[in-house]
Amino acid sequence: MRKGGRSAVTIRCVHVEGGEIQLQSRAEPIREAGQAIVEITRAGLSHLDAAIGQGRVDFTGVPGQEMVGRVTQVDSEQEEWKSARVVIDPLINCSQCRWCGAGLRSQCSDLRIIGRSGADGGLATHVVVPLTSLVRIPDHVDDDAAVFAVPVSRAIQAARQATIQGQTYVTIVGDNALALLTAQVLVRLNASVRVLGGHETLLDRCERWGIRHRRREEAGHRADQDIVVECTGERPAVAATLGFVRPRGTIIQMIAPRVVGDRGTTLDLQKLVDGEIRLIGSSFGPVREAVDLIATDQIDVVSLVGVRKRLEDVPGILSDPQLATGRKVLVTP
Ligand SMILES: [Zn+2]
Repeated sequence: MRKGGRSAVTIRCVHVEGGEIQLQSRAEPIREAGQAIVEITRAGLSHLDAAIGQGRVDFTGVPGQEMVGRVTQVDSEQEEWKSARVVIDPLINCSQCRWCGAGLRSQCSDLRIIGRSGADGGLATHVVVPLTSLVRIPDHVDDDAAVFAVPVSRAIQAARQATIQGQTYVTIVGDNALALLTAQVLVRLNASVRVLGGHETLLDRCERWGIRHRRREEAGHRADQDIVVECTGERPAVAATLGFVRPRGTIIQMIAPRVVGDRGTTLDLQKLVDGEIRLIGSSFGPVREAVDLIATDQIDVVSLVGVRKRLEDVPGILSDPQLATGRKVLVTP
């Protein structure tokens, strides 16, 4: 409903600016042609949200890259999207640059990431996104499952960073939600994948999935792993990857290490040079494929649901160092 050109609807959102995290009420955002307004029904808190909350990632606006909702407004010629249940793909790319042309949309030269850079995210009651960001959710997939689509897309992307098949030793460092989703995606390519973690209950989950696992402190630093996928960003874990990986092996870094000020990197770069080790970053991936994996029960996401929070709880927990270290914290606006 609009009166005199201004929206009569107010929305609520978590706004981050200059180290302050606040719950705000504001007028419903203005939708432009080619955009949709989505009423958020579920959001997941990510490592990036935690990094933004802790001031480690520079961002002003509404965080949240993992969100599910229902379309409330679209262009009249796009009525088939009205009321659709959707996951939102956080990458907004131009489709025209040479990176997009090469199929590398995550590296678009004009890239914006919803809830990360250049666009407000899903820690809100409503969000405005391009129509091209909408991915339909099959009816039988509920919001709790669908909200895992973005972290599952990250796991799929990690699997594309190196040849996982046929390697003798592949280790995943971490047992948070992202690590265990990555383990489930990678084990489909290579049964020898093992997880190193610290939470007994989460390692038990690996047992039930038939994924090899050990407590991190029990793993030998034998420099024999072909591929190490680091999913924690924690300094000791990041530093330890060089003890696990073999010479000329590959480290895939899923979470930016927590490096503060001039304390330097957590990786011994001399070892990296001496061992001729490849270090690869991995970011967001194909959300549509992720929805398919979830919808066909090829990935267990339900057992990774952690505590539930309301939107008004988020300012109080976004800077918590424990956020995103275990099961997924879900937010219901
Ligand atoms: Zn582009």
